[in-house]
Amino acid sequence: MADAKAKSKKTAKGGKKSTTKAETLSFQAEMSRLLDIVAHSLYSDKEVFLRELISNASDACDRLRHDALVAPDLAAGDADYRIAITVDEAAKTIAIADNGIGMNRDDLVENLGTIARSGTAAFVQSLTGDARKDTSLIGQFGVGFYSAFMVADSVAVVTRRAGEDTAWRWSSDGKGSFTIEPAEREARGSTITVHLRDDDKGYLNKDRLSGIVKRYSDHIPFPITLAEAGGEPEQANTGAALWTRPKSEVTEDQYREFYHHVAHMADEPWSVLHFHAEGVIDYRALLFVPSMQPFDLFQPDRESRVKLYVRRVFITDHETGLVPPWLRFLRGIVDSEDLPLNVSREMLQDNPVTAKIRGGIVKRVLGDLEKKAAADGESFDGFWKNFGAVLKEGIYEGAGERDRLVKLCRFRSTAAKGLVSLDDYIGRMKEGQDEIYYISGEDADTLAKSPQLEGFRAKGIEVLLMTDPVDDFWVPMVGAYEEKAFKSVTRGGADLSKIKGAEKDEPQDKAGESDLGPLVAAVKLALGEKVKDVQVSDRLTDSAVCLVAGEHDMDIHMERILRAHKQLNEASARILEINPKHALIKGLAEKARADAGAPVLEDAAWLLLDQARILEGEPVTDPVEFARRLSKVMAAGLG
Ligand code: ADP
Repeated sequence: MADAKAKSKKTAKGGKKSTTKAETLSFQAEMSRLLDIVAHSLYSDKEVFLRELISNASDACDRLRHDALVAPDLAAGDADYRIAITVDEAAKTIAIADNGIGMNRDDLVENLGTIARSGTAAFVQSLTGDARKDTSLIGQFGVGFYSAFMVADSVAVVTRRAGEDTAWRWSSDGKGSFTIEPAEREARGSTITVHLRDDDKGYLNKDRLSGIVKRYSDHIPFPITLAEAGGEPEQANTGAALWTRPKSEVTEDQYREFYHHVAHMADEPWSVLHFHAEGVIDYRALLFVPSMQPFDLFQPDRESRVKLYVRRVFITDHETGLVPPWLRFLRGIVDSEDLPLNVSREMLQDNPVTAKIRGGIVKRVLGDLEKKAAADGESFDGFWKNFGAVLKEGIYEGAGERDRLVKLCRFRSTAAKGLVSLDDYIGRMKEGQDEIYYISGEDADTLAKSPQLEGFRAKGIEVLLMTDPVDDFWVPMVGAYEEKAFKSVTRGGADLSKIKGAEKDEPQDKAGESDLGPLVAAVKLALGEKVKDVQVSDRLTDSAVCLVAGEHDMDIHMERILRAHKQLNEASARILEINPKHALIKGLAEKARADAGAPVLEDAAWLLLDQARILEGEPVTDPVEFARRLSKVMAAGLG
């Protein structure tokens, strides 16, 4: 993604990398596009540039504090992490300085020349080329460091990596290239100096900046000071980690801004969980459920991004084991009192403390989801559309909370416009119905038109429409809910005659059915091994035919998924069901009774099978034969 290194435009004489002269390098191509959009953005909340730069400064302090745990020399003599903002009206600049980890030359090229951050890369990938749409996307993603170019005509970074002697200056006007040269900086850390455009000079007002810091960055756990050039610095934020404060003292705005900082997301959190667990183990958690799908939700690593802190010190946000993969949509932090500060990833993996925290988080999150589902169904449906598919992985993975998860599940259904729960479904079951009917496939609207549903619809029996691939795995595994078995309607064995329908049952045309014997025999003879059986259907009302799986065979959709993943080579033979009330079937039955060997019956048999396959979204058995037969039958119809 971000592997294209910045290319050297001008290199110092002799072709060798210069360490004394300024070098001008081009931005990675995607970067230039991004900067162009940022610079011309009409984005109304330009002030968030300050939030982004402070957020980076805070991360830099966190990273050094963490690295200094094992290499204390890195923080030598100055372990009071802080962020200082200086406004210079005459020079029209705002400078944001931190004493965090800093950057060396390679860091600068990598971090500020290419798209280092995966969120930014996702942003660039989603660009449409339509200026208006792209501008509104910036609001959704936030673009970190580069947002400085919303207000600046040039930006300079003077930085020195902790533990290294040389400082570097990076500067750019955001128009295609940047310059790197050696510089002076007394101590480690970074200073980002933003030279404001004339239109944006309003940000030079100290009170305005103070308001912006309060609004977006109050939660930053390091002191942020504000000063005019040569003036006395004043602290502008509270400076204590937000999660250590009592819930009653934290405002909704502060939670939101912390969420933006910690999650790199720009939406509103859908839910906030802030708690302190005391007892055998002691930890605090501040967790968020986003209201939007994070771009990386379905990445193969299925890793949680929740950050681990130990006694206020940031440790890692990789492979913490704090959150199971099926809750990976959570964002936020966990701060443990019990883990050692030098805890390694390996130690975290099978650590009883981690396991206890994970168990605690799962219980809290499920409790919160249950509460929200009960309090506001519509809002919960919104959550479900974003994250239901992920949560269902938890059922399949044998989480101890399987029953609670199944109860939380929501589905599209033939009986309602919105989403329904299994409890809703059971509440609406018909007299004599003791199974939960469902159909699975790619898309609910197509499923709702499946011929297999016709008989259920005629009787007013609700069918759940399942469209997440994971459904085909967890449903057969769970088997039943409240002692009602799940039953796929694409499978034989559903006896609809036992169930009292909403409408009057049509009188059973028993005599007519027995008349179908010769037709059934003729179709079976023609199709041979291609079908498992031919049966008279009670599930069809409008369509002439449909395919179903045998009662003990694999579900049709499941089989298709396995074939798509090359887990299965051959499609298994299906049962062809025919509709005794359909005019075509009635006519064919009559033909078969008169002459069981009539040649038209063989063509009809194949056309019926192919029709059923088309309805199922499968290719016809043999396209050439199909076309030949269809033409023949049509020609005969005309004659
Ligand atoms: P993000 O902060 O989300 O990773 P940015 O585009 O804002 O994305 O920054 C890119 C990278 O530049 C950061 O990941 C970090 O490595 C580096 N960086 C930015 N600001 C600083 C800073 N003040 N100190 C040290 N490194 C920084």
